[in-house]
Amino acid sequence: MAVSKTKPVSDILSLYELGQRDFGENYVQELVEKQAQLPSDIRWHYIGHLQRNKVKFIAPFVHLIHGVDSFRLLQEISKQADKLNRTIQCLLQIHIAAEETKFGMDEAELTDCLDSVAHGRVAGQFQHIRLLGLMGMASFSEDREKVRSELAGLQSMLKKVEPRLDLNGDSPILSMGMSADYDLALEQGSNMIRIGSSLFGARQYPASTG
Ligand SMILES: *Cc1c(COP(=O)(O)O)cnc(C)c1O
Repeated sequence: MAVSKTKPVSDILSLYELGQRDFGENYVQELVEKQAQLPSDIRWHYIGHLQRNKVKFIAPFVHLIHGVDSFRLLQEISKQADKLNRTIQCLLQIHIAAEETKFGMDEAELTDCLDSVAHGRVAGQFQHIRLLGLMGMASFSEDREKVRSELAGLQSMLKKVEPRLDLNGDSPILSMGMSADYDLALEQGSNMIRIGSSLFGARQYPASTG
């Protein structure tokens, strides 16, 4: 997937013309503006930290939400999906980096979240949510062994929870790997790497959230 955050519509179109269809953004307003201007067959991935009050803006068109880091966020996505009568595909974000700043659940929170979803489904909730896999970001580190072991940890967590996902025969999605560590991520079983700067060049302004 091509991470086009901060990049102009013209850059996205250049890759689109080469056949790229999956693009990732992590600012809601920027995603909504770009989606309105670009071809409708683009599959838009939301990869940032998502605030609950902003779910409604992307719910009508988003292809896959990667950063679901709490059960409360999933409840809000479910509510918007029900309203639209549209199934929304989600990945649960797991905190695998040593750094405190990264979002995501730990293993216990992941288990709790899946338990709560199963519970809700008995009561008829989450009918429009499809949980397809896990997403994570390793530490920004020169220490390749450390990065490798964080990525390996995410792969083993996916193996554990795979039977609890909504796969209907599809393979689970393991979204991990960025420009700096995609090779290690592929080695550790990633099947969705998120590449920004190696495709588009360095970004002009730093990442924030929302
Ligand atoms: C920006 C971003 C990427 C892409 O990072 P690059 O280092 O530019 O390849 C991947 N994943 C997430 C969640 C991001 O925010």
